[in-house]
Amino acid sequence: MGVNGVTEHRNGWPPGIKRTKQREAVLSVLERADGPLSAVDIRARTESDGDGVWLSTVYRILETFVNKGIVQRLAIMTGDMAVYELNRSGHRHYAVCVGCRKIISMDNCPMERFIPELADGAFRVTGHNLEVYGYCGDCDGYN
Ligand SMILES: [Zn+2]
Ligand SMILES: [Zn+2]
Repeated sequence: MGVNGVTEHRNGWPPGIKRTKQREAVLSVLERADGPLSAVDIRARTESDGDGVWLSTVYRILETFVNKGIVQRLAIMTGDMAVYELNRSGHRHYAVCVGCRKIISMDNCPMERFIPELADGAFRVTGHNLEVYGYCGDCDGYN
């Protein structure tokens, strides 16, 4: 499984980053993830792929990827742990369940047509952060 994931990526290795087996393993996990993952999740998945990476190494690799813009660190209130996902085209927002901490991705960007009124007229907006929280269907008591 790990070998396949790594092979799939072979043509698209991000430029400017030294390629190591451990970095390949982490990137491969992120490519196959269906949602944001914590470093602990990523470590566990590299292990079940057969190329286990130390947690401290996972953190170091993630930091490199974040610095290079390959991976996004999401500022989501999931507790103490940051979650990471591939920096795909554009950006995504998430709703977090405060009951079970499940993270649900939004299909749209509610901020798209939002025009901020800024005291500094020269300020150039390059991005935004939006956090939505509440209760998922499982936690809301209706299911
Ligand atoms: Zn929930
Ligand atoms: Zn947005």
